[in-house]
Amino acid sequence: MAYPEPLPLGTPIFASTVLAGSVAFVTGGGTGLGKAMATELARSGASIAIASRKPEHLAAGVAAIEAVGAKAIAVAVDVRDPEAISAAFDEVEQRLGAVDILINNAAGNFPQPAEDMSPGGWRAVTDIVLDGTFFCSTEFARRRIAIGGGGCILNIAATYSWTGGPGTAHSAAAKAGVVNLTQSLAVEWAPHGIRVNGLAPGLFPHEDMPAHMQHDKLAADARDRTVPAGRVGRLHELGWAATFMCSPFASYISGHTLVCDGANWLRRSLRMPEFVDVRTQFGLGTTEE
Ligand code: NAP
Repeated sequence: MAYPEPLPLGTPIFASTVLAGSVAFVTGGGTGLGKAMATELARSGASIAIASRKPEHLAAGVAAIEAVGAKAIAVAVDVRDPEAISAAFDEVEQRLGAVDILINNAAGNFPQPAEDMSPGGWRAVTDIVLDGTFFCSTEFARRRIAIGGGGCILNIAATYSWTGGPGTAHSAAAKAGVVNLTQSLAVEWAPHGIRVNGLAPGLFPHEDMPAHMQHDKLAADARDRTVPAGRVGRLHELGWAATFMCSPFASYISGHTLVCDGANWLRRSLRMPEFVDVRTQFGLGTTEE
């Protein structure tokens, strides 16, 4: 038996008064999981700044928020560029008010055996995921500390933060750094009333996923059977988790990375299946060749 379907999309986790007056800056908020999290925050009353690079993503994010009756703006920013981040926060402050919720969701990723990875490929991922999270977090915190406003940061991690990620070593290492950074910053910024948490999604397929990340896409029912819960996650389930972590109901939670994955990362087999090396999995011959 699979987990039952969640309450339908459109069911708010909280009343729209709970985050009323809050302004959330969501990096990568125009696609996939970022858009879903931004939408659920908006349902609970937050105004949203969608922050990423591509105009079509920015427009899609703003449209999704406006469709649920909330206020949204788009800010073009590359999270690898600290000056651009500062300018983006200025713009959001002027147009929506001071940002009190930051979701570090922007990421890049591509599967490749580590020995084939170029320095540029490594940096493309770690710069966005780890450096981008640090740059946005420090920009946010400096502003919150200056006005004594407190606030909340949610860093989007992945369960290979704890296990390693054979085939995506750059992303796994960067996400491990993000979980560790979450713990450091939670302690450093607690005296300023800033909570810093993480959220590690499991399998949440969506149509915005780039083709190169869908290389192992299975038929939906086969994909569901790869998860102990018997199904993949629905995007709004992750949105509810994010909204809870950013809400006053999580007021004593900080430094924690919440896993939302239908128990997938904990599964083991009594008899381990035969080991298949990464090159074979990618169809690139075997490690012995
Ligand atoms: P996605 O659709 O590929 O979204 C990535 C977003 O990041 C895009 O909106 C992109 O927007 C933005 N972005 C990339 N580089 C950027 C940069 N340099 N500056 C600013 N924005 C940038 O990914 P997703 O599947 O929704 O994943 C969202 C998060 O969840 C990521 O952190 C990912 O690692 C994590 N995650 C996802 C899954 C899953 O099943 N989908 C599982 C585990 C973890 P622009 O192109 O417009 O810049």
